[in-house]
Amino acid sequence: MNCQVFISGGGIGGLLLGYKLAAQGICVCVIEQLAKPSHVYKGELLQPKSLALLKEAGLLSKVEKCGQKIHHIDVVELDNDENDVLMKMKLGYEQLSPFINYALMVPHEELKEIIRNEAMKLDEFTFIAPARLIGFENSRAIVEKDKKSFHIKADYFIGAEGRRSPTRDQMRLKLKKKHYNHQYLTATLPRPPALTEGKIISTHNRFIGLFPLPNQQVRTVYLINHGEYPLIKKKGLRFLQKEFNELAPELLEYTLALNDWSKIQLMTPLTYHVNRYVDNHFAIIGDAAHAVHPIAGQGMNLAMQDAAILGELLCSVYQSHHERPSLKAYEHVRRKRNEFVLKISDQSALLYSFRFHLFQRLRIRSMKNLGNDHRLHFKHILNISGLGLSHLSLGDYFVQSSLLPARKKPLKNLSRYFFNKENDYPWKY
Ligand SMILES: Cc1cc2nc3c(=O)[nH]c(=O)nc-3n(C[C@H](O)[C@H](O)[C@H](O)COP(=O)(O)OP(=O)(O)OC[C@H]3O[C@@H](n4cnc5c(N)ncnc54)[C@H](O)[C@@H]3O)c2cc1C
Repeated sequence: MNCQVFISGGGIGGLLLGYKLAAQGICVCVIEQLAKPSHVYKGELLQPKSLALLKEAGLLSKVEKCGQKIHHIDVVELDNDENDVLMKMKLGYEQLSPFINYALMVPHEELKEIIRNEAMKLDEFTFIAPARLIGFENSRAIVEKDKKSFHIKADYFIGAEGRRSPTRDQMRLKLKKKHYNHQYLTATLPRPPALTEGKIISTHNRFIGLFPLPNQQVRTVYLINHGEYPLIKKKGLRFLQKEFNELAPELLEYTLALNDWSKIQLMTPLTYHVNRYVDNHFAIIGDAAHAVHPIAGQGMNLAMQDAAILGELLCSVYQSHHERPSLKAYEHVRRKRNEFVLKISDQSALLYSFRFHLFQRLRIRSMKNLGNDHRLHFKHILNISGLGLSHLSLGDYFVQSSLLPARKKPLKNLSRYFFNKENDYPWKY
């Protein structure tokens, strides 16, 4: 079998890339090892940049129909004994105006289904599932399907297989994994009607995240120590319901739905980042190249953003009549942005990793300063939105750590902080 671009892995990254290429008339073959949608929770929060990319691809209105918009995230710190509110602030996407100024919670498999169904309408798109990439031989992919193997010849081979990537192995890239001292328990519960925005509630030693989903549901994420899950199981579901109710009293009665361990998934955070994304006619995107701590809801967004940039580059390669741009341009644009998001997600995770009163006090101070200082607040939201990247200045660090007072003057000329077409697709300029 022949195609122009072979993509191994029909996850969010592989599908978006395949769709983008096929829509531009490039012959694509996507293979996926799973026969049907997986029930594993794999992230639902779409950041504004991913929404902008879906808009560019003409898919946003379909996706929005099955999503729940989030305009801000309430961050609340509680006293453990009295449940008194020690601090409350809003992390608002609203300030990203006039760009897309909200995030969207969309069930992962529904998002994939929308992209896959749209792609399947295109003649240039071939989807083979279940089929598994097992390696490469003489510049061909070896694919196994129904216990038989066959070869696929292509100009370019893209690895979008997630954390275990045979394409990454072929490129001889090594992973250095970072593990954390904590894990999360995640479950979907029915949602109180008033809970329509994101919410993070913590005490000095407990943490719960609530993110509203469509159909009156809410994603809950509860922090535990690494390896604590068997102990929690021993304590029983009643214990877990009580913990949820204490931290988020609005969930009372809704936590009764937490009545079976099969409804709860254990999430183990992990971080890694390879040093190259491209090797000759091979490239990797998404979790094949990097894994990010889930606290900032970035994983699937990075995969989509990789797919969009590589997709645009491959389109330029096939459309160019003179000098063809190198695939390295994709690595050039994406690697430093991903590195930055990995770093800020890691820092956010550390803020909640150490369960002492001192850490809670530091967190409260830092979040209060962030809420009071327009510049810090804007930069923080911009960085998690994916719409731009702004390093903190020395002044920002001083304000965040209370060495300088919050600044009253807002930043001027905000549009210069957002990525423009030249930043996203520099090879075109
Ligand atoms: C438990 C968990 C929770 C997460 N929570 C969040 C979150 O809250 N927010 C967030 O943004 N991100 C989260 N993520 C990360 C997010 O799921 C990933 O970053 C994102 O899905 C990456 O997309 P991808 O397309 O690169 O890889 P994947 O989504 O992993 O897709 C890879 C696909 O390739 C297929 N595949 C693998 N090997 C082969 C092969 N040899 N041949 C053919 N097909 C193959 C797989 O079956 C899979 O369908 C979470 C991940 C996990 C595992």
